[in-house]
Amino acid sequence: MQAVILAGGKGTRLAERLNGRPKPLVDVCGVPLLKRQVDQLASYGVTEAIVLVNHKAEQIEAFFAENPSDLKVTLIDDGEPRGTAGAVLACLERLAERFLVVYGDTLFDIDITAFLAAHEAAGAQATLLLHPNDHPVDSDLVEVDEEGRILAFHGYPHPPGKHLPNLVNAAFYVVERAGLERYREAEPPLDFAKDLFPRMLAEGASLHGYRSFEYIKDLGTPKRLDKVEKHLRTGVVERARRSHPQTAVFLDRDGTLNQLRDYVRTPEDLELIPSAAQAVKRLNDAELRVVVITNQPVLARGECTHEGLRAIHAKLDTELGHAGAYVDALYFCPHHPHSGFPGEVAALKVDCDCRKPKDGMIRKAAAELNIDLARSWMIGDSTSDVLAAQRAGVRSILVETGEGGREGRYPAEPDFSARDVAEAVEFITSRYPAIAERLSAFAAGVKPGDLVLVGGFSRAGKSTISGALAAHLREAGVPAQRLGLDRWILSSDQRQPGFEGRHDMDSPVWALEPWLKGGNASFTAPRYERQTRTSRPGAPVEIAAGEALVLEGVTAFALPLQTDRRVHRLFVESDERARRRRILDDLIARGASASEAERIYEERRADENPAIQRARAAADHVISLDELFAASLETA
Ligand SMILES: [Zn+2]
Repeated sequence: MQAVILAGGKGTRLAERLNGRPKPLVDVCGVPLLKRQVDQLASYGVTEAIVLVNHKAEQIEAFFAENPSDLKVTLIDDGEPRGTAGAVLACLERLAERFLVVYGDTLFDIDITAFLAAHEAAGAQATLLLHPNDHPVDSDLVEVDEEGRILAFHGYPHPPGKHLPNLVNAAFYVVERAGLERYREAEPPLDFAKDLFPRMLAEGASLHGYRSFEYIKDLGTPKRLDKVEKHLRTGVVERARRSHPQTAVFLDRDGTLNQLRDYVRTPEDLELIPSAAQAVKRLNDAELRVVVITNQPVLARGECTHEGLRAIHAKLDTELGHAGAYVDALYFCPHHPHSGFPGEVAALKVDCDCRKPKDGMIRKAAAELNIDLARSWMIGDSTSDVLAAQRAGVRSILVETGEGGREGRYPAEPDFSARDVAEAVEFITSRYPAIAERLSAFAAGVKPGDLVLVGGFSRAGKSTISGALAAHLREAGVPAQRLGLDRWILSSDQRQPGFEGRHDMDSPVWALEPWLKGGNASFTAPRYERQTRTSRPGAPVEIAAGEALVLEGVTAFALPLQTDRRVHRLFVESDERARRRRILDDLIARGASASEAERIYEERRADENPAIQRARAAADHVISLDELFAASLETA
C-alpha cells in the first residue's frame, strides 16, 4: 500500500513554533509530526510513501536520511503551488492504482486496515474519512446516504436556517488512480475538498464517506497544536482508538431527545427537549460515544421516505450543533410488523430483529464501534428502551419525559430513573461514578449467589444505591440483579394499620423461597403504582441460582427469610431534613395539601422508626450518600 503525504505547506500560521523547520517537522510532544505519521502508516502495513515537498524540502530530505524507516520513501518537489489535488494530479504517473492521501499537518490514529476494507467493500473511486465536529455551523459539510454514498458537499458559509447533517471531511482519503485520470489536465490550483471531489461527484463519480470517531486533527495553528499535545498527553488520542473498548450512551430519540409527538414526519415536527443539546455535549466532553437508537415505523407505513428521515436528522444535527454537541452514530429501524396502513411499504413490513425492544441495533452498534456493553448505558422514555437495554446487557435509565414509562407495554424495570435526559447524563457522568466508588469496598465482598439486603427509611436513596450496586457487580463480572420490595406495597384500600400492614410480607418470601434454598426462582411480581396508590398485576422475574440478589426496601430486614446463602446487610442512612423534603414534595406533587403531607410524613416516620432502628443495629455496613443526593435522583 502506498501513501501520498502532502508535505509542501509553509506553515505561516504556525511559524512561532517551527524554529525554522518546515511544518511537517513540527515538534509534537517531543516527536516530529512526520515521524508520527510515517510510524502510524507503517504499523498498518503501508510500504511506500510519496512525500510531496516544496518549502524547505532539504530539511525533510535530511529528516528521512536521519530517520530510516520500513517505508520506501520518495520525495517529489512539486514546484509551484498547485493545491492539494493539483499536486497529486501532477505526479499521477508515479502513483499506485490505489493510494492513501495524508495531509502533512494532521495528527491521526486511525485503523487504516478497517478504513481500506470499507473502501474496498464500497467499490468507490475515493473514500473520505468523515466525522462530526462541535462547530458544524462554520464547517464544510458532507451529506451521505444510509449506505455511506456521498450525495452532496455543502461548503461554508451555509444558507441561514438550512438544516445540514454534521459530517466533516477529516482530510484523510483513499483514492483510485483510475478515477483521477480524466482530471490530469485540469487547471491548478485544485483543492481536493473544495474543487476536485465536488467536481467528481457532479460528473458521476462514486464517492464514499467513512464515518469514524477515531482521532484526527490538524495542528496548523499554535492553539490547535496545544490542544493536540494535550490530547496526546492525557490519553484522549489513545482512548479514541478503534481497538480501545468504547463506553457508549445509547439514546432514544422521540420523547428522550426531542418532544414526543404522534409521529415525527417532517423536520418541523422535531423539537429538542430543553437541555438535551447541553446533555449531549456533556457526553461528548466526557469521551462517551453518543449513539442514537430509534424505531422509525413511519418508513414502513409510507409516512416518511429515507430522504425525509435524513432531513429530520439533519435538523437534529443542526440543533445539537448550535450547542457544540454531536451524535457519533445513529441507528434506526425502518420496519413495522403490522400491515393495514394506506401507502405502506411491503418490503419493510417484517418482524425484524432491530425494532426495539429487540436489541439488534445496540448489538450492531457494539460490533461496529467496539462498544463495551457492560459499561454502557441506555437512556429512554419507554419500557421498550429498558427491555432492549436489558437484553443487550446495558444499564438503563428511564426518563419522565415523553412516555415516561407510563405506556407499560413491557414488564421491564429500569436500573435508574431520572427527570429528563440532562439529569440522566448528570447521573452517568458524575453521580454514578461517585456512588460506585463509595460502594466498591462493600461490593468487593459480594460473590455470585450472595444475598444483599438493602434497608433504611423510605426515600433514603435505597433503590439508587441498589441499582448502582447491581450494575457495579455486573461490571466486575458478578451476575447480579436488584429486586425492589416496594413492588409488594398493598393497594391503599387493602392495608392494615402500621408499617407491616402496608406491605404484603408473605408473597415475596414464598416467591423467593426456591432461590433462598439454592435453586432458581421464577415468579410474577406485582407492581405498585404510586400515582394511583394501587397494586397492579406485575411482571415475570427470573433469578438464577448463581446470581447475586440485591433485595431492597423498607421491609428488607424485617422479612422472615430462611437461607443458607451468604447474606450481606447494607443500611442506607440519610439526612432526615433532606428525606423529609423529598417525601413532602412527592406527596404534594400527588395532590396532598402541605398539612396533609406533613401529617403523613410524621405518621410514617413514627411507624417505620422501630423497625428501621432494629435494621440499623443488624446491618453489617452503613452507607450515607447525602452529599451525592443534593438534587435527589431516585427510582420510585
Ligand atoms: Zn427493524
